[in-house]
Amino acid sequence: MEEQIKRLLATVIHPETGTDLVSGGYVERIAASEAAITLTLRFPKSRDPFAVKIKNTVEQLLAEHFPSAKVLVIVREGGAAPRPEPKVRSSAADITRIIAVASGKGGVGKSTVAANLAVALRDLGFRVGLLDADIYGPSQPKMFGVEGYVPDAEQEEGVDRIVPAVAQEIRLMSIGFFIRPTDALLWRGAMATNALKQMIHQTKWGPLDFLVCDLPPGTGDIHLSIISELKIDAAVIVSTPQQMAVADVVRGIEMFRNEQVAIPIAGIIENMAWFTPEELPDNRYYIFGRGGARRVAGEYGVPFLGEIPLVRSLMEGGEEGRPAAAIDPRVGERYREIADRIVGSVMKEGR
Ligand code: ADP
Repeated sequence: MEEQIKRLLATVIHPETGTDLVSGGYVERIAASEAAITLTLRFPKSRDPFAVKIKNTVEQLLAEHFPSAKVLVIVREGGAAPRPEPKVRSSAADITRIIAVASGKGGVGKSTVAANLAVALRDLGFRVGLLDADIYGPSQPKMFGVEGYVPDAEQEEGVDRIVPAVAQEIRLMSIGFFIRPTDALLWRGAMATNALKQMIHQTKWGPLDFLVCDLPPGTGDIHLSIISELKIDAAVIVSTPQQMAVADVVRGIEMFRNEQVAIPIAGIIENMAWFTPEELPDNRYYIFGRGGARRVAGEYGVPFLGEIPLVRSLMEGGEEGRPAAAIDPRVGERYREIADRIVGSVMKEGR
C-alpha cells in the first residue's frame, strides 16, 4: 500500500521546484492501514505558498484511490519540527507531541484507553512512548506484560538516562517500575512528584512522534506538577456514561481550560458505552445509559472523539499484557478512528 501511495505522490509536481513530491524529498512519513492513511509532507521553506494547494491535491488523490481510508495529510515546514523551547533541557525534548489522558474518577478505563491509544498511534506509523504517571494505580506495566521490568540507568553525554521498557514497539516508562503496589499511598505528594520529574526528563525516550501520558484520575497537585514539567499539546478525557454527568468530568475540563494551564482539549471518549456479548456481536446493550458523552461534549463545547464498547477483549487484553487494539480488529478500528481524530486535532493546534 505504501508503494502505491508513493507512486501516486510521484505524480504530484511542486510548481516552483518542478520536482515531484517523492524525488523532491517532500515525503517525510507515510503511515497507512486499510482504515487510515496519515501522510506527513515537509516543505523546507517556511510558508511555502504552494503547500496548501499541494496538500489539497494529495488529499483528493488519496481519497479517490483509497475511498475506504480516512486520509490525513500533515504539512510541516522548515528543516526541523517546529517546537517551542522546552522549559527544561530534558530527554523529553525529542518528543514532537504530548497527549495527556485524564479522567474524573478511577476505574472508568483511562489506563485501558491510554494503552490502546498508544497502540493505535503506532498502527498509524508513529513512534510512540507511553508515560504511566498514575501514581495511585500504575497499570501500564501489566497492560503491556512488562510487570517485572527493572529500568537500567545509562550514561548519555554525561547525564544519567533511565532506559524505558519496550513492548509492542512502544517505549514505556511507569511509576510502577519504581514502587510496589502496596507502597502506592506513601508515594503521594513530594516523593511521587520527584519521581515523576525524573521519569519525564531522564527517560531515554529517543525521538518520538507522540508521548501518551496516563495521568492519575481526578484533578490535583500531581496534575499541576506534571503540567508544569511537560508541555502537553492536547488532553483527552475518558469517562463512562454513568460518570459523564458528574462534577468530576467538568472539573477535568475546567482544569485544562484554566488560564494558567491552557491545554487544548482534543475531546471526550466515552468508554464502556454499551455492552456487546461475544456470542451476539451485533447486539448493543446500553447498560449505563446512552448519549451522555455527546451531551456533555456539546454542553461544554468540547469535541466528542468516539465511544468504546464494553467488550471482553479489552478486559482480557489488559490482563494478558496485550492491549486489545493490537489483537481485536473491531476494537483496533475504533481506536484507530479516535487516534486519527486526535492526530488531526493536535496537528491543527500547531503549538
Ligand atoms: P482506570 O485507569 O480509569 O482506573 P482501567 O483502565 O484500569 O481504569 O480499567 C478498569 C477495569 O476495566 C480494568 O479491569 C479494565 O480491563 C476494564 N476495562 C476498561 N475499559 C473496558 C472496556 N471498554 N471493556 C471491557 N473492560 C474494560
